Amino acid sequence: MIVLGIETSCDETSVAILSDGKILSNVVSSQIDIHKKFGGVVPEIAARHHLSNLPIVFKKAIDMANISLDQIDLISVTYGPGLIGALLVGISFAKGLSLRLGKPLIGVNHIVGHVFANYITYPHLKPPYIVLMVSGGHTEILLVKEDDKIEVLGKTVDDAAGEAFDKVARILGLGYPGGPEIDKLSKNGDENKFNFPRPMLDSKNYNFSFSGLKTAVLYTVQKFDNDNVPKEDIAASFQKAVVDILLKKTFKAAKNSNVNTIVLAGGVAANSYLRKKAQELSEKQNIKVLIPPLEFCTDNAAMIAMAGYKLYKKGISSDLTLEAVPNLKI
Ligand code: ATP
Ligand code: MG
Ligand code: FE
Repeated sequence: MIVLGIETSCDETSVAILSDGKILSNVVSSQIDIHKKFGGVVPEIAARHHLSNLPIVFKKAIDMANISLDQIDLISVTYGPGLIGALLVGISFAKGLSLRLGKPLIGVNHIVGHVFANYITYPHLKPPYIVLMVSGGHTEILLVKEDDKIEVLGKTVDDAAGEAFDKVARILGLGYPGGPEIDKLSKNGDENKFNFPRPMLDSKNYNFSFSGLKTAVLYTVQKFDNDNVPKEDIAASFQKAVVDILLKKTFKAAKNSNVNTIVLAGGVAANSYLRKKAQELSEKQNIKVLIPPLEFCTDNAAMIAMAGYKLYKKGISSDLTLEAVPNLKI
């Protein structure tokens, strides 16, 4: 079965083609350089660029996969959560294609896409498993009972983990997106130099809070003269605090749910310290941890095609009334 995936929820325009769950092509065109100068994604500009990029990215994906259009069996598209204008570009394109080819359409939740990215690398992965879903807009612990039965065990009550990375990077005067910058800088820093707070670490639920941590970083930076801020140590100590909280709760969720597999998902899963610590804890606690390769952590259409493929097999599909749902929940 050949599935075409389309992703335009934020600032990546991406089209991928999967054959029975294997990647034939996965073209990602990022707008990061365009939004950089604004310090974040500008929704209107993002939508305009999706509109001009999508046909080009689509053509490239078809050419690379070396298939003809009539071989496509299913069109899978992100319908939320995300920026309304950006989502509409992908959905309209997908509907047009579905109509033109007479092939079924399925709307996919972008967050489920991030989770199912793991099926690309780990085809033998099967529910139940626990997910640490950490991205620019989301921080959640999920229990995947079945591919179409996902329970949210906990989530952030304020900032997402990626958002905290981006905001702390801004406080430190680093570039956008901040996550990779903090990751890089931390390698030369002392992670034990500053003992930042770990909000809600011992709370009885699986929720998170990162805004207080961000403020603590701000106060620490303000104690130094501009030229003497120990950026490396602050970055490393902040990163350690975030990772401590994320992993402690995730492993607790796995134990309490009697589940022996944890998977990481979302852009923050690209963080090298998180990946290393998750691996260490996995060995210590004897719980399997699966981590997607970097290219499947951040936004891509292969994960959307994979989610469409899995859910279509469960009997789920959409029709031409599919609409964008900017605040779509699991
Ligand atoms: P969402 O998926 O919630 O809609 P999004 O699609 O914008 O949001 P992703 O593309 O999954 O988010 O991830 C982007 C986020 O990941 C950014 O906040 C970025 O700073 C963060 N990120 C990327 N690489 C790293 C890294 N190495 N360390 C920490 N954070 C990172
Ligand atoms: Mg992005
Ligand atoms: Fe994302």
